[in-house]
Amino acid sequence: MIKNLIILGSTGSIGRSALKIIKKNKKDFKISLLTTNSNVRRIFNQALEFNVKKVVINDKSNFQKYSHLFKKKKIKVFFEIDNALKNVHKKVYLTISAISGIEGLEPTLKIIKFTKNIGIANKESIICGWKFLNYELKKNNTNFIPLDSEHFSINSLINSENKKNIKKIYLTASGGPFLNMKLEDIKNISPKYALKHPNWKMGKKISIDSATMMNKIFEVIEAKKIFNLDQKIFEIIIHPKSYVHAIVHFKTGLIKFLAHDTTMQIPILNSLYKKDETFEYYGNDFDIKKINNISFLKPNVKNFPLLKILNFKFSNTYFEVILVSLNDALVKMYLENSIKYISIHELLFKLLKNPYLSKYFKISPKNINEIKNMVKKVNKFLYEYLNKK
Ligand code: NDP
Ligand code: MG
Repeated sequence: MIKNLIILGSTGSIGRSALKIIKKNKKDFKISLLTTNSNVRRIFNQALEFNVKKVVINDKSNFQKYSHLFKKKKIKVFFEIDNALKNVHKKVYLTISAISGIEGLEPTLKIIKFTKNIGIANKESIICGWKFLNYELKKNNTNFIPLDSEHFSINSLINSENKKNIKKIYLTASGGPFLNMKLEDIKNISPKYALKHPNWKMGKKISIDSATMMNKIFEVIEAKKIFNLDQKIFEIIIHPKSYVHAIVHFKTGLIKFLAHDTTMQIPILNSLYKKDETFEYYGNDFDIKKINNISFLKPNVKNFPLLKILNFKFSNTYFEVILVSLNDALVKMYLENSIKYISIHELLFKLLKNPYLSKYFKISPKNINEIKNMVKKVNKFLYEYLNKK
């Protein structure tokens, strides 16, 4: 059976990893829809290479400027996802949700009723909108697969276990490019260095989040929501080689961990097929040297102060939306060289303490529009705050 697929954010790092693995197994898949924000050249080439007949360009000016190129090749091109989903009556087999940032939430929510399975990499949407995603998943009987490698591993390790027997779950973090440096010494470090992740090739936003350790904080929140377990069960552990992705310690005395090569192609491949199907990842052979070199250490809060955020309680309030929005905006400013590396940390803590924002920490958004409004509110507040200084 040929499986129909949709990739949201096909021009990004996860989207391209997905296409690489699909290319290696081309006979099993057909892609119905690809989407981009504005990378017209790349999505055009992807559509031609994979014979995709529908694409979405989210950016209006690029959509207007380049639509004719697609039409010439008989590819339907849409502005925004809703337009592409009109008159679709049959569910595809699997959708990969790989848009970056909180902007991924709305398209992910909208696609759920059009897909039997959904692999979500977009962690911001899980962190801010899990309640709404989960509701849609249940309502439409759509199966959810966590794609973030740590969550994919945790899922594989616990899905046939009694959750009550879980004592601790460790999410591994490489420590990023600044693991062996003092925060004091990298206060002004330029994005060029912060983007150089030692093990993973990822989009810019998540690469900076890995350097500051915010990525791992997001992953703890993501895990708490997906697996519906007490926050205290989760702990972050540094594992510089990024070979082991999660460790689960059971009350029964057993400790299980899952290792795989450092590529997102593996969780993606394993979500494209069911367990009872036969498929293969043609990667590195089992390497004794690699296994013998596995090491773990506790993270140092002094060098990664954002870890203190884990002292907050995460419970589907505006706190998560505010945290994600502030971080999105600060990382963007850092990448544009308009704030220093240290300012991501300092501003984040200062703003989280500001009563204008903290008054929302006990309130929960009732729908996705309220989340979108809060994102706007946070950005406006941040803009005014920085311009007042
Ligand atoms: P990238 O920045 O590489 O790609 C993002 C994709 O989303 C691109 O296709 C981009 O289009 C599209 N996009 C961005 N903004 C919008 C928007 N407003 N509307 C519609 N589409 C948009 O990110 P990654 O692939 O690295 O990450 C994607 C998600 O997966 C993130 O949430 C990240 O945290 C998560 N993730 C990533 C991992 C990785 O290894 N990269 C690992 C685990 C999770 P365009 O090309 O035009 O910019
Ligand atoms: Mg991860």
